[in-house]
Order: sequence, then C-alpha cells, then structure tokens
Amino acid sequence: MSVIRELHHHLVSKTRSAVEITQGYLDRITALEPQLHSYLTVTASQALAQAQAVDAKIAAGETIGLLEGIPIALKDNLCTRGVPTTCASKVLEHFIPPYDSTVTQRLQQAGAIVLGKTNLDEFAMGSSTENSAYQVTANPWDFLRVPGGSSGGSAAAVAAGECAVALGSDTGGSIRQPAALCGVVGLKPTYGLVSRFGLVAYASSLDQIGPLAPTVEDAALVLAAIAGYDPHDSTSLMVPVPDYGQSLKTSLKGRRLGLITETFASQGIDPSVKAATEKALQQLQELGAEVQEISCPRFAYGLPTYYIIAPSEASSNLARYDGVKYGVRSNNENLLTMYTQTRAQGFGAEVKRRIMIGTYALSAGYYDAYYLKAQKVRTLIKQDFDQAFSRVDVLVCPTSPTTAFKAGEKVDDPLSMYLSDLMTIPVNLAGLPGLSLPCGFDQQGLPMGLQLIGNALREDLLFEVGYAYEQATDWHHRRPPLP
Ligand code: GLN
Repeated sequence: MSVIRELHHHLVSKTRSAVEITQGYLDRITALEPQLHSYLTVTASQALAQAQAVDAKIAAGETIGLLEGIPIALKDNLCTRGVPTTCASKVLEHFIPPYDSTVTQRLQQAGAIVLGKTNLDEFAMGSSTENSAYQVTANPWDFLRVPGGSSGGSAAAVAAGECAVALGSDTGGSIRQPAALCGVVGLKPTYGLVSRFGLVAYASSLDQIGPLAPTVEDAALVLAAIAGYDPHDSTSLMVPVPDYGQSLKTSLKGRRLGLITETFASQGIDPSVKAATEKALQQLQELGAEVQEISCPRFAYGLPTYYIIAPSEASSNLARYDGVKYGVRSNNENLLTMYTQTRAQGFGAEVKRRIMIGTYALSAGYYDAYYLKAQKVRTLIKQDFDQAFSRVDVLVCPTSPTTAFKAGEKVDDPLSMYLSDLMTIPVNLAGLPGLSLPCGFDQQGLPMGLQLIGNALREDLLFEVGYAYEQATDWHHRRPPLP
C-alpha cells in the first residue's frame, strides 16, 4: 500500500491521530538530522497546529481527503509565505516570501502538513547537494555519500522517513537523479503541467516541480493534487488533469517499450547499472510488455546543449539578486559597488560559474554560435523523441549512469559532476515527463533507478508501467540502515 493510503487509513479508522503522525515525523527529524542534514528549516509548531485542525475535523465526523493530515516537505526554492525560502544561497539568507507558490497552496488546500524546507544545491545548480551554502546532506544509505541533487534534501528526507512525500524541482534531472541515488520514486512532469508560480527560477524553459515519494502511487496522488492550469504561470497548460490513480494496473499486455540504445553505449555507465536495467526490461517483458531497441541519435548532445541554454537563462534570472529587493545587501556607499559586492559575497562558486557561462553565450558575437545553435539542437533532440514515440509508448533507460558517489569526490571536477545528468537532461530539453523508480542495488548496497520517459502529458503511462514493475518487485520495500 502507498504511504499516503496507509496514513489515511490510520486517520479515518482513528488508530493514529494527525498530531501523533506529525509528531512521529518530527521526532524522526530530531533524531536523524544531526547526521542527515536534509532540512534547512523545520516548521514544527505550524505543522502541529495544522495537524490539530485535521484532528478536529475528524472528531467532528467530517470526511477528509487523501492528502489531509499527510506530512510533507518542500524543497527550499519553493516560496512559502512567512517561512524562509533560501534556495540554499547566502544571497537569500533572510528572505521570507510574502506569498505561497501555487504548489504549496494546492497541497495546503488539500490538507497536507508542511514539516519544513529541504536542502538543495544553491539555486538548484548541481547534482550532489554539495553546492548548498549551508550544509551537505548525507545519503541515508551511506552517510559518506551524496544524496544526488539538486533536490537531495527532499530525496534523503523521503528515503529516511523524515516525511511521507516531498516536492522537488527538476531542470535537468534534479528530481529523478536524487530519487535514483536515494532509492525512492521521483517524477518530473511534462513542462507546463505543474505551475511554476512561486518556484524560484533557475532556467525557466526547463524547470518543473514534481514529487519525490516512497512509491509510484504516492507520486501519482501528489501529482494529481499539484497539477493543472494556473493563470499565474504563463507557460501553464490549460488541460484537464486525469485521475492518475486509474492508471495503476498490474499487467502491461500490449504496451510497447523502447530501450534507448545510446544510453547503454555512453561512457562511464556502471556495469551494475546496465545489468539492473537489463534485468528490469526482462521483468517488464514478463509482465506483458513488448520491448524493442530505439535509437535517439542526438541524445548525447543533450548535455552540451543544456550547458548553454540553462546557464543563459540562469544568467538572466539571477540578475534580480542585486541587493535592492531581495535578501542580503552588502553595505557600501556607492551603488555599483553595492551591486557587485552583494553578488560577489552572496553567490557561491558554481552559481557564479553558470552566470559567467550564460552571459558569455548570450553576448553579441557569440549568441548565434552558442545560444542559437543550442536551441536548434534542442529541436533535433525533441524530434528524436517524436520519432521514438511513433513506435513505442514509453522509453526506458537508467536514470543515472552511477550509484551515489562519495561526498567530495566530484566537487573539483565540474565536468564529471555534469555527466551525472547525461540521461535525464534530454527529457527536460524536450519538455517530456520522466519517472525514476528503484530497480535494484549494487554490490555496495546502494540503490539504482530506472527511468521511464513518456510523450507529452502521458504521465498516466509512466505510472502504469512504474506501478506494474513496482508490484512485481520488492525494491521499494527496502529501507536504508538507519536507527
Ligand atoms: N544537475 C543539473 C544542473 O546542475 C540539473 C539541476 C536541476 O535539475 N535543477 O544544472
């Protein structure tokens, strides 16, 4: 059973109250945080007050929705009214948003209880959560390793049972890669399905918010609550939100799946990851799916394309942190030095690197050679996916080429860090939905993720295939070795 359904069952059958459930999670946070460091802010008293309100409703005999009383965590780049939202950056150290992001509002309206805000790579730039200006989050499966990133705090919190479900954001893999490295489910929805209003922008044409959850069904339930048109986001799609719960079946008879062959040919893929993916494909076949190999020849160009487009958009989005409106301001007599000092002191090294790459790629004389060229390659990558989806329903490949690496291992080698997102980035460039779910463990006991990629707005198929696979395996029942 999904964690949300299990908790809901406790609430309606009155075997546990919302306050007891919430307190249980808060106790776990207190016990684990000294080593795990998943949370930047814990909103304990607010959470307990919300839980009391849910209990009062239950006591009054009112019916409650599925998410009512469910404790969740939010990545700290999602604006929360009255609660610090730092993006793990010094530049937003004391920033308290005056409004809620749409996703926060929708989850709160559904009755979910916010336990706190989770750690991330500064402004969601990174793959290990080591770029946080505040703390390094540990991987619950091995404290010496990274949880992935940039939604590493959310992934670690879900894996460690410090919340029922969490939200993350994914620009190039930041939900799926940490989900894979922490052994949980992560979904990046179709671009435009979930409102970005109140998500602090990194690269606006790529950013999407999505769930990190213990099971596929939990992810489906959260998506159903946060998806749907929002007039506050001009890229929000005006489409009906399906009842994703309907797509959870156990047979895959007649489903056509395609293994993206290029992902197996890529350098640096762990043999154990490859073997686990092959095994998963075999199991999917046993469930009735037809599997074929599909070539996406431009898949490998995703990474260089992304590292032009994402920094270009970031350099523009981050221009607003000048010490005038938000966060910290460096004290200085002169306006120009106030700007430059605020930015020099407020941003970390990786953020500065991206701003410089982006400004360079957008500058006169280089714009055509870099930015425009990257946009053209982006279209070609999208065309590869279009062709693939004329032949199959869902594409399959590993989520990450490796399992969780050691903290510190890649911090001085940005290129090797960037390679971590080789298989997730093309999905963002094409605006498609991608789901990562646990598909095994390597010899060191570290979890691995299988990535399912769907055509635009076919989250239902990802849930269908993911759920069937999950029912046939027991990876999601395994827990990290924590007290
Ligand atoms: N790791 C990638 C980057 O550093 C993706 C980050 C993300 O999806 N937010 O940009």
